[in-house]
Amino acid sequence: MGRMQGEKKRAAEICRAKKNFLLLSHVDPDGDAIGSLLALGLSLRRAGKKVIMANPDGVPLLYRFLPAWDEVRCDYGELLARELAALEVIITLDTATGERLGDWSRILKKDSFVVLNIDHHLTNTRYGQINWIEAASSTGELVQVLLSELGWEIETDIALCLYTAIVTDTGSFRFENTTCDTHRNAALLLQKGINPAQVTEYIYETKPEAAVRLLGRALETLRISPDGRVAWLTITNSTLAVVGARGEDVNGIVNYAKEIAGVEVGILFQETREDLIKVSLRSRSRINVSEIAQRFGGGGHPRAAGCRVRGSLDRVREEVLAGVTAALAGGENTGAGDSQYS
Ligand code: 5GP
Ligand code: MN
Repeated sequence: MGRMQGEKKRAAEICRAKKNFLLLSHVDPDGDAIGSLLALGLSLRRAGKKVIMANPDGVPLLYRFLPAWDEVRCDYGELLARELAALEVIITLDTATGERLGDWSRILKKDSFVVLNIDHHLTNTRYGQINWIEAASSTGELVQVLLSELGWEIETDIALCLYTAIVTDTGSFRFENTTCDTHRNAALLLQKGINPAQVTEYIYETKPEAAVRLLGRALETLRISPDGRVAWLTITNSTLAVVGARGEDVNGIVNYAKEIAGVEVGILFQETREDLIKVSLRSRSRINVSEIAQRFGGGGHPRAAGCRVRGSLDRVREEVLAGVTAALAGGENTGAGDSQYS
């Protein structure tokens, strides 16, 4: 049995055998972090388990159409002593490093639980006792595979969470991580009765006005390297304040930089309140941006990665651009083969 198969089987055994779970996903959550969390949490509950679901930043407004979103807790300090005492298993979802759990990472340091780490980021640092790390479109897709391994029914509301995870992480089935399996799994979810047009309307067509105004401001900052292969956008704290946007409204804006003809790497630099610059990297087909992000303490996927770097906007921009330029000059070609379509 391959290691991955073994880890999947162990994950299933734990879900079947244990009773008290804490499920966690990463800071600054996206559709996969929230969708996989809710899908596995609700499934475990329906199997009679006690489950606490938590995310250090809570559920963004965008994902509040999902079932049980209001049961996701965010404040680690509010975890009661008796809840902590009853816990047997911590399952982390979509979370490549322990630090990506924010405050909740403290709980990993206690040795009284089994930590089951389920993720599709190949940069995952394997901080659990059981680490099921497998390349898939999304962690949601891995949860779907786990539920079928368990033989647990995927009810419509759980299908909605899984479909949201897959749609958001594949950019609506556009990105390189979309495979035959992804479509097959998504088809199974549609059979459970969800309405794909309605889901994508919730995700992409119910933006607050401020998010669209933020996009306008961000696009005005567009810069392109002299050779046309790197494009970057910048969002400062004051940009957010001027239009009244929230941090989560920034999601997706980096793609505009990458979508320009000839651009190989698109980057978004975003100031945060904590003297940290959030950097989002997207690559068209050749550069493995997760390697670049890892050099700055971050991670992700070959075509989509990120890091948070301490320092001023100017300095971080200069350092990351130098890293990207070096990768392009070295002709780094990792992560996957050249796109068959380019
Ligand atoms: P985004 O740019 O949309 O925030 O993230 C792109 C991808 O990189 C996602 O899969 C996300 O989980 C990962 N990522 C973003 N920021 C970080 C980071 O600071 N550390 C790690 N390990 N991964 C990150
Ligand atoms: Mn993901």
